[in-house]
Amino acid sequence: CIMTGLAKESMPAGTTAGTPQILLAHHLKHLKLPTVLRAYVKVARECARDGVDHPRYLLRLVELELIDRERRMVERRIRAARFPAVKSFDTFDFTAIPSLNKMLVLELARCGYILRRENIIALGNSGTGKTHVALALGLAACQKGFSVAFATAASLVNQLLEARDEKRLLRLQRELQAVKLLIVDELGYVPLSPTGAELLFEVFSQRYERGSTIVTSNLPFEDWTSVLGSERLTGALLDRLTHHVSILAMNGDSYRLRQSAGRRRATAAAEQNQATPDNADPETGEIIP
Ligand code: ADP
Ligand code: MG
Repeated sequence: CIMTGLAKESMPAGTTAGTPQILLAHHLKHLKLPTVLRAYVKVARECARDGVDHPRYLLRLVELELIDRERRMVERRIRAARFPAVKSFDTFDFTAIPSLNKMLVLELARCGYILRRENIIALGNSGTGKTHVALALGLAACQKGFSVAFATAASLVNQLLEARDEKRLLRLQRELQAVKLLIVDELGYVPLSPTGAELLFEVFSQRYERGSTIVTSNLPFEDWTSVLGSERLTGALLDRLTHHVSILAMNGDSYRLRQSAGRRRATAAAEQNQATPDNADPETGEIIP
């Protein structure tokens, strides 16, 4: 008998080997081939219609399964990365940030730096698209098959402190070390406690030459000491992070402010001939009291 014990057990009482669809469905589920299961009748009809032979019928089914499996894996990697939003370069306007080297960014999106275990640091003032670029690079990495983890510096440090209190720091550190790409967003907005800075340093140190890290910061390197507290720690951290690194210079106008200023200007223009009051902010159009 070719039926496995498992198949026999899950067969409804009184079913015989004369119902191949039921057995086929069971086996395909067991083999984790959901697309073959979903498509085999439809594709069989198409192949019969077009006079396609059996090997090519099987090939079509297997190819469909492979395409779907790749899509499911990408989706799983995106979920595992915990991106706050899914953003890509398709929606990124490079002309809005002339300081950013577009060719370099598009080259980085091909993920060669991940294979070389190199890092990326995006520096610039608020609203210039640093998080957007980091998310788009993270998405590209997921699509290319790399595991990714995303966190803000503050939340990563909180996770580390929490893990330490709950005696599972080692496990979290191993997880953070294992991802191919770690994205640490917004280093600089929140000053870290000495322990927090030490734990963050350990993460970078453990990933050094083992995996890629992307860091975004609103602060130039010379100000990182104000976040990490100690000069010695900052030096050691920068030493590791910048050994193999691409720096993205992202200083410019805030995209957010520009968008809302543009919207407000459009609204203002629509309101007939209303003179701009003298006390309006020239950048945002907002009234300064
Ligand atoms: P930062 O992290 O540098 O503070 P963000 O990446 O959060 O800036 O950008 C703020 C908002 O503006 C986001 O919604 C982002 O998608 C959008 N944005 C910023 N720069 C661009 C750009 N060049 N093209 C398209 N959207 C942009
Ligand atoms: Mg940001």
